Order: sequence, then structure tokens, then C-alpha cells
Amino acid sequence: MPESTSASAAASGPSSPSVLAALVAGLRGGGIEVVDLTAPLSAATPVLELPPEFGQTKVFELEEISRYDDRGPAWYWNNIRTGEHTGTHFDAPNHWITGKDLADVASVPAGQLVAPAAVLDVTDEAAKDPDFLIEVEHVQAWQNRYGVLPDGGWLLVRTGWDSRSYAQEPFLNADENGPHTPGLSAACARWVAEETPVIGLGVETVGTDAGRAHTFDPVFPCHSYLMGSGKYGLTQLQNLAELPPTGAVVIAGPLPIVTGSGAPARVLALVERAGR
Ligand code: MN
Repeated sequence: MPESTSASAAASGPSSPSVLAALVAGLRGGGIEVVDLTAPLSAATPVLELPPEFGQTKVFELEEISRYDDRGPAWYWNNIRTGEHTGTHFDAPNHWITGKDLADVASVPAGQLVAPAAVLDVTDEAAKDPDFLIEVEHVQAWQNRYGVLPDGGWLLVRTGWDSRSYAQEPFLNADENGPHTPGLSAACARWVAEETPVIGLGVETVGTDAGRAHTFDPVFPCHSYLMGSGKYGLTQLQNLAELPPTGAVVIAGPLPIVTGSGAPARVLALVERAGR
């Protein structure tokens, strides 16, 4: 009987990188699934809307350069137009005034872009109340059940909001008083930023803050406290339902825009599956 892929990887020479060989074997049918946490990027991708007195981010646009035609007979390519904070994206510390002297998106150490994830699921609460706020007690209850938040990892908040990401209106869920989307209370944002060892907060909504966060003290507390603490944000994530509460590894790949405040990112998660 031939050796299995994982057995031959494990049996390779002593100078081989055995941990990475085991990872590759896991990815090739050995129990590791790659889950894509990224929203497709198109002109239909929802974007944040601010009150009209403020500057606005662009929706994503493709501008065709050539498509096997007289502009380029054998090739197809596009220019793109996008905001740094369009679609699934990474918030760097310098995005907020509290972190203005801290890292830009190109300065985030690559080693921090691969990190473990804790997944807090408040889908039921958010389904009942779109303005549901996670308090410190909710995260502490999670820790009592699953252990402490991962040092250098992400706190990912699952709200079920990814099911609304097909269009701007249901995703922003705004009325005359502004958007209604779930998130963290100001006290919880401060606690996550200042009292926990995570490197950042990941959410399914258009930004890391709750829809009502413009009324909080401070306004937009996730941005204010996390960026001010040199921490990061990941937004518009999808498929968090595919992740276990602990044990997933997130690979977040923002474009290294020099001096940039953030960037669209491909975000993947490695998840162990028994019997896969
Ligand atoms: Mn952002």
C-alpha cells in the first residue's frame, strides 16, 4: 500500500521544515480547510456612507484598458478605482486620529497578518435587535467557556450580517436616524483595546463600530480605542459561521499601500476539520 501524502511528508529528511510539511499535508486532504472570509469585490459591494458634510469613499470600479481588441490584441486588463475602506478591508492604526502617529497599512508587520482567531457568535441577539451591543460581560462569558482571548490574535464577531452584504440598503440598514447595525459598546471597545491581548477586531458589518456609534461617548469607540492602542480592524467579513469558536488561523492580506490608512484585503481562515 503506498504511503499517504501526509506520511511521506512526515518521513522526509531531517533538514525538511516538518511543521510546514505537515501544514501542506493538512491542506492537501489532511484535515485543514481554507475558508474564504472575503466579500466579492464589485461595483455592487456595499460601502460606508457618511453624513453629506463629510468626504465619501468610492465604490469599487473597473475601467477596462483592453480586452483582446485593438487596445491590446492578446490581453485583457483593467484599472481599478476603490477606497482603501471598500469591501472586505483592513483598518490600520493611522486610520483614526487617536492612532495618527502609529502604523500605516504598509508598516503592519507581516508576521501579524497570520494569527489565531476567537469567534464570538451573537447572531441570535443581532437578529432580534439590529442595534445589539456586545458588552464586556459577553466576551467574558465567552472566555469562561472557551478560554482567554488569543495573544496576538483576532476577536472576530459573528452577527449574521454577512447575509445582508448582497446590497447597500439591507447592509447599512439605515433610517432617518442613521444606520442600525450591531457592534461593541464603548466600554467593551475600550476593554478589548486596552485590557485584552488581541491585535484587532474583525466584524461582518461595514465598519468595526456599531451603526449607532456616532451617538456613543466617545464617538466610534472601536475606531477610537483600537486604533489608539495600535490595534487593527477587519470589516465586511463573510463565512464566520464556518469557523469554530477557537482554533482557526486567520491570514489577512491588505495591500501594502505606503502611508495608507487601510486596504482591501483577501482574508482567509485555516480551519481543522475532523475526518476531512
Ligand atoms: Mn475601515
